[in-house]
Amino acid sequence: MIPVYLDNNATTRTDPSVVEAMLPFFVEQFGNASSMHAFGAEVGTALGKARKQLQALLGAEFDHEIVYTSGGTEADNAAILSALETQTGRDEIITSAVEHPAILSLVAHLEKTRGITVHTIGVDARGRLDIEAYRKALGPKTAIVSIMWANNETGTIFPVEQLAGLAHETGALFHTDAVQAVGKIPIDLSASEIDMLSLSGHKLHGPKGIGALYVRKGVRFRPLIRGGHQERGRRAGTENAPGIIGLGRAAELALEYMSDEQTRVAALRDRLEQGLLQRIGASFVTGDPDNRLPNTANVAFEYIEGEAILLLMNRDGIAASSGSACTSGSLEPSHVLRAMNVPYTAAHGAIRFSFSRENRDADVDHVLEAMPPIIEKLREMSPFWRERDVRTDAFNPTYA
Ligand SMILES: *Cc1c(COP(=O)(O)O)cnc(C)c1O
Repeated sequence: MIPVYLDNNATTRTDPSVVEAMLPFFVEQFGNASSMHAFGAEVGTALGKARKQLQALLGAEFDHEIVYTSGGTEADNAAILSALETQTGRDEIITSAVEHPAILSLVAHLEKTRGITVHTIGVDARGRLDIEAYRKALGPKTAIVSIMWANNETGTIFPVEQLAGLAHETGALFHTDAVQAVGKIPIDLSASEIDMLSLSGHKLHGPKGIGALYVRKGVRFRPLIRGGHQERGRRAGTENAPGIIGLGRAAELALEYMSDEQTRVAALRDRLEQGLLQRIGASFVTGDPDNRLPNTANVAFEYIEGEAILLLMNRDGIAASSGSACTSGSLEPSHVLRAMNVPYTAAHGAIRFSFSRENRDADVDHVLEAMPPIIEKLREMSPFWRERDVRTDAFNPTYA
């Protein structure tokens, strides 16, 4: 049995050519880029090249707009905390109900400990932001808006340019967590109003533990981490040279494979989705079918538990994920699906399949063969399935 990995929104396999690019920077070219000798200079040159590679993927025009971080989470924290310092007299944050915990748990903490007001904008059944509520929340006290470019669970893409434009009308900064978007859809920051953007290496076949915050030229920034003068004083600490160089190579590859992602990978995703819906009743796709990442499918199988589905899938060599997290013994369904008003009976059985350029047709064939008996078996054991109200089988927010 060949394992099938469909959990690429959780993390991706580091591309072997990324590892190859990184390797010389552990043993041979181990210098500290800040040193005044040849060992350091060699590394400094390589870091400069890596920066250019990442700039090219983002369409970032100017040098020094990229601040390397330890990953997406740090970039998100740095963006919001910086804005609260630079936007004097403003103490409100606007975000969405479907953000990653890297944003949601930070803003909840700020609300509790610093008296910051947080406006959490809801979404509709397809996961689309409530634009009217967003407009109403914006005001002279808004320090920063942080809305993700694409959702990690459903793949739904947000109209970040429009949202950034509206934020600027009130003098707010606009940040986007683009961890799931970078490398999957084209991004051009040269023609954009976005002030800050977070990304993470390991979500685009780069290494773990490296990410970046793009800070548009001219946007004031206060560092999260203070110390030495690295990153022009915006993120202290000796540069993670292998990580930065690996991320550069990963960015270069992402550009190369962008059209493959848009066409072949999207077609694999669509075939899986349609195949599952045809073969398995009382199931539906969540998210916005018209505006989604090409690699993500979130399918809700009603009246059963996502954890149980994943266990049986794992036995069949298939890796995917469910949105629910086991918190304090009670299984809570995903906050994203709850924000979309997906009924509990369906949100509990939602499975996220996330593809990458490494997936092949045979992967989809295997999943389509394995899933129907898994779902059937679990439903046979489910009291909810036996006692279901058949009328709710018609619930279908995506295609309704
Ligand atoms: C994975 C992810 C993060 C966190 O990135 P790390 O590099 O793992 O810290 C943040 N936001 C989104 C949307 C993600 O998918």
